[in-house]
Amino acid sequence: MKFEMVCNNCGSIHSDESGLYQCPFCKGAMTIRYMENGLARKEGDRTQRWRGMWMYKESLPIVSDHPVTLGEGATPLVFLENWSGLATNVYAKTETTNPTGTYKDRPASVSVSRAKELGARGVTVASDGNAAPAVAAFAARAGLPCVVFMPRETPKERCIQTAAFGALILLLEGNINDCLDQAAKAAKAFNLHNCSTTQGENPYQVEGDKTIAFEIVDQLGFCPDWVAVPIGGGSLLTGVVKGMAELREAGRIKSMPRILAVQAEACAPFVRAFQKGEPVRREEHPRPTLALTIAVPYPPDNVQAMKALKSVNGDAVAVSEDDLSKTVLDLSTRYGVLAEPSGAASLAGVSRRGREGFFSEGETVVSVITGTGLKSLGIFAGELQEKGWEMPTLPNDERTVHAYLKTML
Ligand SMILES: *Cc1c(COP(=O)(O)O)cnc(C)c1O
Repeated sequence: MKFEMVCNNCGSIHSDESGLYQCPFCKGAMTIRYMENGLARKEGDRTQRWRGMWMYKESLPIVSDHPVTLGEGATPLVFLENWSGLATNVYAKTETTNPTGTYKDRPASVSVSRAKELGARGVTVASDGNAAPAVAAFAARAGLPCVVFMPRETPKERCIQTAAFGALILLLEGNINDCLDQAAKAAKAFNLHNCSTTQGENPYQVEGDKTIAFEIVDQLGFCPDWVAVPIGGGSLLTGVVKGMAELREAGRIKSMPRILAVQAEACAPFVRAFQKGEPVRREEHPRPTLALTIAVPYPPDNVQAMKALKSVNGDAVAVSEDDLSKTVLDLSTRYGVLAEPSGAASLAGVSRRGREGFFSEGETVVSVITGTGLKSLGIFAGELQEKGWEMPTLPNDERTVHAYLKTML
């Protein structure tokens, strides 16, 4: 047996052969526990066959030798010199370079690999724009049909990207929480494997998220003081903390980094609950936000995420729409990294806390940039136009071209 599955609620334990998605006794969310820490092995013992995220195959919940992979993981760690004028060393873990443009390729690769080895006839996923294209891509690679539930307002580019991988898309008159409910019901009714990124419906996906922590420590060569992550449903945060805990257990780091969880003020049920020390309550009146893909009115994994955040003495902060737009533009114009606002929310949170004097000089902060700006070019167009961006059309004539350049350079 490679791993066992422990119910977070009733504590019952199940073997990896059970192929479960939820506790059979109480329907609780389950956590994967490995019989042997895959990181504790000597480097030489690790198989050299795998690239990217699957270098950590010993620590992932797949028993077969055939993961479904498209080159996810092994994303760059970019040093952001003088970010926000802080005396802190700020790095960006740019998940934007994954196959479909977001870190969701990691959980999707694990989930579809697991579904395939369990003999799934098809997969389903609920998504507001990033999990859907990711799962659809890996399902296509695995030759499995994929049924997607998305809120009706999901930007068209994200639907088209998903459809391009051959998925069947259902747009719901509802929000992401409603989509998660329908995907769970459809999974049961049609015997589909649920690849949504919530631990309560899919315990495998969070294991993909934890490889971000493995890579950060491998790339830095030490454990950062802080890791900042955007938070929507809560799975990513839970996964990063689990990864750090496995690194510590294997003796690769001495103590855990602290985590900074970041949401947009427009929809910040998790941050508010953390700051008040109360349980997370549904955001009844979310406002529109640039950070579409983390605007989850009720974060389904909030209990696990809150526990994880408190276990590392973490912090949570909400950022404004101005913070978000300024951060994406600074990141693209000054550092060459194109992020969607949700993806750069973590960094906006670092700037905000940095301005408040929260970090010490010489501390190292890694901000996980979770998604590409390529799916949000409309937002960039809007922000640039507000700053007076113009693109002149000139006659095909050297003198006119040079005369224009003279006024600009
Ligand atoms: C899904 C997503 C998140 C948040 O992940 P959760 O696990 O839902 O908290 C953050 N950023 C981007 C770009 C995402 O797509």
